[in-house]
Amino acid sequence: MPELPEVETVRQGLSRWVIGRRIHAVEVRHPRAVRRHAPGGAHFADVLAGRKVLDVRRRGKYLWLPLDSGDAVVGHLGMSGQLLLQPTDAPDETHLRVRFRFDDGGPELRFVDQRTFGGLSVSEGGGTLPAEIAHIARDPLDPEFSDAEFVAALRRRRTEVKRALLDQSLISGVGNIYADEALWRAGLHGTRSTDALTGPAAQRLLAHVRDVLGEAITAGGTSFDALYVNVNGESGYFDRSLNAYGREGQPCRRCGAPIRREAFMNRSSYSCPRCQPRPRIKPRP
Ligand SMILES: [Zn+2]
Repeated sequence: MPELPEVETVRQGLSRWVIGRRIHAVEVRHPRAVRRHAPGGAHFADVLAGRKVLDVRRRGKYLWLPLDSGDAVVGHLGMSGQLLLQPTDAPDETHLRVRFRFDDGGPELRFVDQRTFGGLSVSEGGGTLPAEIAHIARDPLDPEFSDAEFVAALRRRRTEVKRALLDQSLISGVGNIYADEALWRAGLHGTRSTDALTGPAAQRLLAHVRDVLGEAITAGGTSFDALYVNVNGESGYFDRSLNAYGREGQPCRRCGAPIRREAFMNRSSYSCPRCQPRPRIKPRP
């Protein structure tokens, strides 16, 4: 499943390829890919024809393309979505859902999504920030992300620290893999209480989250899923340098203890039993 680094990699790739180009025509090949566009697929194609792409922006795992109409194309990759630039004569992918052709006749933009959990929509007047995604918090790589506000908000929560990291209204773009990696670096078990973290501990955790995400972007995103490739068709390779995620039974790179896997919200959490001890259950008063 694409996480923030993968989506940022896609954003950077798209930026190079689509900014300044005028959309000639859009072909919706599967209605599910535009199900979040309430007026339907034909309307989606109509409002985009003739529009120029001004930018490619991101909030958490959502991408949006501001257009010269003031509207924006909003996209989410879901579990398996890809945005590919392909020569116009390249054969259609099996799971091609939406095709954008441009006036210049250059490479076309294709939304390919096997499992169709992702999708595209047009946000009316959404060029600056689509209303549909305004509730999502900034991510820690956003220049306007406030560390002090995050630390204060985190410590006000009465929840477990890993749940807080995955809460898109508090901090966006941190998925399961990067949460586990940041918690390993911080030496914190994911079930620690947020309200028991000191300010400096919360700040250190945030710094680790930011480092992990930044390193993953530099490496081109993590790829556990053969479906994920970046906009140029290359898989990411950050998975080679993971310390916790997916390493059950392998020695911790810091202390040598075997990494443990625990069930977490229908998924798994990976941690070191020695470096990241479970919090003691507080005795009842
Ligand atoms: Zn360890």
